[in-house]
Amino acid sequence: MKAKYINLSTNFDDSIFDELGLAIRNGKLVVFPTETVYGIGANGLDETSVKKIYEAKGRSSDNPLILHISNTNTLSEITKSISCVEKKLINAFFPGPFTLILERTPTVPNVVTSNLETVAVRMPSNEIARKIIEHAKVPIAAPSANISGKPSGTEVCDIIDELGDKVDYIVDGGKCDIGIESTVVRVVDDIPTILRPGKITKEDILNVVGKVKVDRHIFEKCDFNEAVLSPGMKYRHYAPNTKCIMVYSSENNKLVQKINDIVKDNFNSLVISTTENISKYNAKYVLDVGSKNNLNEISKNIFSTLRKVDSYNVDLVIIEGVTREGLGLAIMNRLIRACEYNYIEC
Ligand code: AMP
Ligand code: MG
Repeated sequence: MKAKYINLSTNFDDSIFDELGLAIRNGKLVVFPTETVYGIGANGLDETSVKKIYEAKGRSSDNPLILHISNTNTLSEITKSISCVEKKLINAFFPGPFTLILERTPTVPNVVTSNLETVAVRMPSNEIARKIIEHAKVPIAAPSANISGKPSGTEVCDIIDELGDKVDYIVDGGKCDIGIESTVVRVVDDIPTILRPGKITKEDILNVVGKVKVDRHIFEKCDFNEAVLSPGMKYRHYAPNTKCIMVYSSENNKLVQKINDIVKDNFNSLVISTTENISKYNAKYVLDVGSKNNLNEISKNIFSTLRKVDSYNVDLVIIEGVTREGLGLAIMNRLIRACEYNYIEC
């Protein structure tokens, strides 16, 4: 492995952050933990450094990156005027799993925003992430730490195989608390519009601003040439190589019955099940993703579970869906895309 591995998962002393901050300023790629998922970070104000991220991930150059900041003072460098509604969102959700799309200044290189006039900004709450950004003294451009199209990396064991030869540092901060990416919001005509659901829910935003919209592309497949508010919506994402289908019913008996019907025709299959249902399936393999009554646990485990399924060599993966309430909206958005829109509600 080319990358230098630094384990900060149990304890750390602050001297390491000088080295990591300098590495970012010198154009290196640093994989680091955040409360959502791991990111591959580079100096977000330097075009050459940012290009390395796209190369390492194999990410399409028209899919822009999020700039990570450690202090709201940085906003005046990288964004133009901020509206009242945007200020309310920043006050409520920075730092945290929340990304806001704002009008950008010319300081932000075109390669970060894929030539858009806006830039995505987030202030992570994870202490390691914050310290790396502080010591870098520049905003850090960082997409999720995975090869494009694959499930996002939420623990270092998954990331080393995929990116160990492509980046300069891998900083281990243990398994990410939330496990799915930030909520992405753009304020359109004073209405916060969710472009990607996450841990900050539509209910949370409604409580702060009194208005919220969810972009319809969150659950609808978009035509590749369609104009969308967020380019990431167009791409295959979160998908294992094995074919997946998702099944949801608000009635548990129906859900189990439907999945067992599918298993009957596909014995060489694997079910991703909630804890309460694991003993009910007749499939060759059953993996536990967490309790039906604990969406936080499912969110934390979902990507690491999706990453395991290819190693079972099955013909089909059948995934239990969850409610779309609260954090369930974000989980369902990722599952539907992992299944490439192959899902049944009964
Ligand atoms: P990732 O880097 O994998 O967490 O994905 C970042 C997401 O934010 C992608 O879906 C991008 O398309 C989206 N994004 C980044 N910058 C912008 C922007 N300026 N406008 C709209 N969406 C953006
Ligand atoms: Mg990603």
